[in-house]
Amino acid sequence: MTNADQESWVRVKARLRAEVGDDVFSSWFARMDMESLDEGAVRLSVPTRFLKSWIQSHYAERVLACWQAEQEAVGRIELIVRSAVIKTTVQAKPKAELTVTAADNAGRVASSTAASRPMSAGDPGAHEALGGSPLDARLTFDSFVVGRSNTLAQAAAKQVASARQGDPVMFNPLYIHAGVGLGKTHLLQAITWAGNAAGERKVLYLTAEKFMYGFVSALRTQTALAFKEALRGIGVLVIDDLQFLQGKSTQAEFCHTLNALIDAGRQVVIASDRPPSELESLDDRVRSRLAGGLVVEMGALGEELRFEILKARVQAARSHHPSFDVPLPVLSYIAKTVTHNGRDLEGALNRLLAHNKLTGQSVTLEMAEREVRDLIRPQEPKRVKIEDIQRVVARQYNVSRSDLLSSRRTANVVRPRQVAMYLAKTLTLRSLPEIGRRFGGRDHTTVLHAVRKIEGLVGNDMALAEEIETLKRQLQEQG
Ligand code: ADP
Ligand code: MG
Repeated sequence: MTNADQESWVRVKARLRAEVGDDVFSSWFARMDMESLDEGAVRLSVPTRFLKSWIQSHYAERVLACWQAEQEAVGRIELIVRSAVIKTTVQAKPKAELTVTAADNAGRVASSTAASRPMSAGDPGAHEALGGSPLDARLTFDSFVVGRSNTLAQAAAKQVASARQGDPVMFNPLYIHAGVGLGKTHLLQAITWAGNAAGERKVLYLTAEKFMYGFVSALRTQTALAFKEALRGIGVLVIDDLQFLQGKSTQAEFCHTLNALIDAGRQVVIASDRPPSELESLDDRVRSRLAGGLVVEMGALGEELRFEILKARVQAARSHHPSFDVPLPVLSYIAKTVTHNGRDLEGALNRLLAHNKLTGQSVTLEMAEREVRDLIRPQEPKRVKIEDIQRVVARQYNVSRSDLLSSRRTANVVRPRQVAMYLAKTLTLRSLPEIGRRFGGRDHTTVLHAVRKIEGLVGNDMALAEEIETLKRQLQEQG
């Protein structure tokens, strides 16, 4: 590389900085180096794979344009990950180990060095060795629309993402639960992107399946120790879809990991489709540890929020398809009729986009009605919670919730308790043992008895049947 090339590089960086601003520049480009300039191809290196993929997907064209403004002959940019191993250990390690590249030594780096030194932020080796799950570049805080149902969850997530190494941990674990398609994965990946971009703490995003797979396969290849050590080098561990975590040994390991991380002041973030109290297969200690941090529920996407999400989506789509336009009445129509599930919103827009692209017809209300017909919300039964059942039943019969959970057997408590158990069985998907546990640790046969008892009674007792119908309606209608 000539001096002239070096000087060009300095000017390209200045140009880039002027274009994107100081903040963006220092987040993404401060650690970018030039390696070579050959026959119109500029080779640039960055320290992590994360930076590489981010720059590739967001700034590749811009970087190229800056180069072309400097040297017309530049036709191509090549981004590579420079090997941290070579730079940091060149004196200490024997030569044989130095020749492996960052790409193929990922596993070995973690297993050979994790025990002796903390992992550096954004170290791709760790992510690979631990089976870090792939991230979707679109799932960031910028694209996450905040509304009534998710304000708290978003604020907590931002707080976690922006905390620095050594800051006191405010809520640990942060546990977010919500139904399908309500933004859990979006928020978790946003934390991962933002946390890793800040570069200070290593954030590892794993689905529960990846956690299981990573651990099980690590056991098989007898690198469990390395796996554990590597996990402990993590600043923030993010686990998605915890409800899928299965198997006794996986759970035991999850429990150890959780305790080790929390005790070491590392942040843990978890998403699940249900609250900790309803994770049936986890043992009590884990459950209470999970409940001991901040538990936040995200509710259904309200119509207003759906509208805002759609608007943002159309905006985003327009950057690739400038001619794509969706009139506001069409957006309102979709927001009003399509289900609460964020995935269906995305699906609805994709169909309009496809139709628009393939036929060249502009998007109209009629087209929308035709295209999204099957995504229209049926009257979904609400998710009823056992706590709500207990609360509503207790109020109805003028007893306290703790009476329902207690072992008292007086008639004024026994009947309401049976009614509540019956409702829990008919209005939720919880199993008999789970319901028993939630009613003061009763046996599943007690629950079964209660359910049969009430079923028998409502056949003959009109007043009771009506009472139960009223309770059901209350539970299903409450917002
Ligand atoms: P979950 O993991 O809870 O099932 P996802 O995070 O996968 O749901 O969300 C489903 C879809 O809805 C994704 O495309 C996501 O980007 C979108 N989505 C959900 N909530 C929001 C939000 N508040 N702002 C923007 N997009 C959202
Ligand atoms: Mg998800």
